Amino acid sequence: MRVVFGVGASERVDQELDALGYDRVLVLCTPEQTAVASSISDALGARSVGVHPGARMHVPVESADAAVDLARERGADACLAVGGGSTTGLGKAVALRHHLPVVAVPTTYAGSEMTPIWGLTEGGTKTTGRDSAVLPRAVVYDPLLTLGLPVDLSVTSGLNAVAHAVEGLWAPNASPITSLMAAEGVRALLAALPRVVAAPDDVDARSEALRGAWLCGAVLGATTMSLHHKLCHVLGGSWDLPHAAVHAAVLPHVLAFNAPAAPAAVAALTPALGLGSAGAGSVSGDAHGGSSAPDVAGALWDLARALGAPTSLADVGLPADAVDEVVSRVLAAPYANPRPVKADALAALLRAAVAGTRPVTAAP
Ligand code: NAD
Repeated sequence: MRVVFGVGASERVDQELDALGYDRVLVLCTPEQTAVASSISDALGARSVGVHPGARMHVPVESADAAVDLARERGADACLAVGGGSTTGLGKAVALRHHLPVVAVPTTYAGSEMTPIWGLTEGGTKTTGRDSAVLPRAVVYDPLLTLGLPVDLSVTSGLNAVAHAVEGLWAPNASPITSLMAAEGVRALLAALPRVVAAPDDVDARSEALRGAWLCGAVLGATTMSLHHKLCHVLGGSWDLPHAAVHAAVLPHVLAFNAPAAPAAVAALTPALGLGSAGAGSVSGDAHGGSSAPDVAGALWDLARALGAPTSLADVGLPADAVDEVVSRVLAAPYANPRPVKADALAALLRAAVAGTRPVTAAP
């Protein structure tokens, strides 16, 4: 895909459309982002066939059908998705159902613009798949568009991106290059997020966070996700919980669980979390002091908490009595995972995530 990255890059959307030969684009957004989408649409003049503020979280099929109908009615030859993962997701749904190409202008750190993964929710069940037709043909990253992303959403969205990279590090199809991208993506985001919290309009910090999100999204697109994404997929699709916040609350617990089976991931995450390779911030492997591992999960939980992210699934809306149902849904169609997942262990992980207790990295 073509990628443009830089402060003010959204002023060059028309050049990307020129390069791709798209003359009639339907601009997609959420109702909350109508103003920014409209200003991009206005700058495109006659090349825009209108703004459709119909994007909703988890892409309900009804919203996809409405966007497809409008694209047909207006004779659109492409969709321009201005927004976060929900808006990019709507563009992908139109690409899937109506074969229209997507150009993405991301405004969060979700990373969907870098992946061929689509998602649709029907009757409370979210279905996802991969199809190269939904991969955006061009992505225009402009950090200025992220200045208004509220601090709480910036943090959870950034941790959503970190989750892509963490799972990319232990993915069955990880490669030296995806691991390099994942380590740098995590480093960039974890360094940028405290600066974003301190000064949300710090353009340098926003640029660094968006660069990290680009890397993490590319890792998501290139590798296979494991237990963490499966859990978040079930929680988000079936209980309609806020996507990024769920990722933030779950990730430290899955990291604690998987760490013993993923030493390369732990090693890659250790410097990004400000931990030494052993010693301070480490957990002992056995009573005789034979081995120890950096407590990456505890450190990630501490950082998430310090940044104001939710650390409890109960706080993001999951009822405590849902644990058994989540376990059975996750185990009904499990993803690959570096450590085998048994029902008891998964229920314990979820109970800790519901309660919001600080996880400790299991020793190898
Ligand atoms: P979102 O797109 O749902 O946006 C959340 C809210 O933030 C919306 O109200 C939106 O209007 C607002 N917003 C977005 N950017 C803003 C900005 N810069 N300033 C002010 N407000 C802004 O949130 P998200 O976390 O980006 O996306 C979540 C969805 O994306 C989920 O459905 C998830 O499954 C999907 N997703 C898909 C992939 C993939 O590869 N297919 C990857 C990541 C996420």
